[in-house]
Amino acid sequence: MGWTGKAALTAVGLVLAVGAVVAVRTATFKAPVADTSGVHLASARPVDAGLAARHLGEAVRFRTVSHQDPAEDQPAEWDRLHAWLQATYPDAHRAMGREVVAGQALVYTWPGTDRSLAPIVLMAHQDVVPVTPGSEGAWTHPPFDGVVADGAVWGRGAIDDKGSLVTLFEALDGLAKAGFVPRRTVIVVSSHDEEVRGGGARAAAALLKSRGVKAQFVLDEGMVVVEDHPVTNKPVALIATAEKGYATLTVTAPAVGGHSSAPPARTGVTTLAKAVLAIADHPFPMRFSGPGADMLKSLAPHSSTTIRMAAANTWLFSPLLVSQTAKTPAGAAMLHTTIAPTMLKGSPKENVLPQDATAWINYRIAPGDSSVQVMARARDAVGDLPVRLAWVKTPDEPSKVSSTTSEGWKTLAALAGDESRAPVAPALMTAASDSRYMGPIADDIYRFQPLRLSVKDTEMIHGTNEHMTIANVERMVRFYQRLVETAASR
Ligand SMILES: [Zn+2]
Repeated sequence: MGWTGKAALTAVGLVLAVGAVVAVRTATFKAPVADTSGVHLASARPVDAGLAARHLGEAVRFRTVSHQDPAEDQPAEWDRLHAWLQATYPDAHRAMGREVVAGQALVYTWPGTDRSLAPIVLMAHQDVVPVTPGSEGAWTHPPFDGVVADGAVWGRGAIDDKGSLVTLFEALDGLAKAGFVPRRTVIVVSSHDEEVRGGGARAAAALLKSRGVKAQFVLDEGMVVVEDHPVTNKPVALIATAEKGYATLTVTAPAVGGHSSAPPARTGVTTLAKAVLAIADHPFPMRFSGPGADMLKSLAPHSSTTIRMAAANTWLFSPLLVSQTAKTPAGAAMLHTTIAPTMLKGSPKENVLPQDATAWINYRIAPGDSSVQVMARARDAVGDLPVRLAWVKTPDEPSKVSSTTSEGWKTLAALAGDESRAPVAPALMTAASDSRYMGPIADDIYRFQPLRLSVKDTEMIHGTNEHMTIANVERMVRFYQRLVETAASR
């Protein structure tokens, strides 16, 4: 046999060996999440969904709108919401101690009978984002009327996050009324400024930390049951186990200014343009690892053979998985730190040279990366271009990644699976939530709202025609009731 013959045989042998490894790994593949079949779930109590929906409509009417400039906020609206909560949920308020921190954030404690058990912390914020000026007319029902019609509650905050706040209180009030007594302490944290500053959640975490609270788990808003998950084209309950960091960098090109009729070879704007392009063209590499990758691995058993085979053999297929996942911007965002130039400022007039030209670049930092790496990469990209780089404010680093085998995960995943009848998968949240401040009081922080939405539906969050269907109101109340009963009894 000649050299080429031997090489061909070796190649065939190699392919067979690789094929065998791929087949064995595919057949024995296990998703990176705990088996939850042993979790004993509390059964559902009856829910008056119509009443809960009316209550959500009432809560929407309080204009607890967080503005970029706090001077535009109307603090009295938060006070009215607080009074309404107390009047509407008297049994919950009898059962739980209530504290106000950082001005208008609420911390409730429902003491458990067994103080040796770690408490659970449930979160839902009170504030909402403004309605984009000029878009009010596009709403089917006015954004602050809290109309219940066509099987849904309409208005800003119906989902984000008064939907969570109200359904959580419906559940707690129902449990208190029924005489339920938790073994494990239940803590509710409701901040007033999630959409802008997050000071409420930070203060609540500091208060709990000062009392030595180490929670079994924290649950905040985040992902949902996605009805048409892009990987399986079927419903999937996504529980975010981490969220990305947030940072905005300013790039400033100092320049002398002057009349644009006699410009220098390089103006501040040309230098700035080069710097912004250099940074944007120097993206963070995509990695098939972390919660984004774990999501795909968890869904593999419910996916096509191709995806199953690829997920079971990342040693061979991770480049393929990366390129497939990165086909959409949302998919790509799960696999790396993103770089988004968002604002530019030059001179105030078309025939005036700028003195300082500035760009703002918004980063969402993936778990595993840090703001220090982001800054180093930006410096490296701009090289010796004469620009200054600075953070707009102290960056929020990415969260730690929570466990998918802990007791907290098991409770949440078992319940999410039971309620949705869908596979449950960990995920990476690319937006930010208040839960990022809870690191000092918990290792396991999960971000999940127990409602069903299609990918298209999620556009109404922070957008036009935000609404929650009454079916979702009912799901949410039931989920929180069963969660508190299950977790607080375990
Ligand atoms: Zn929110």
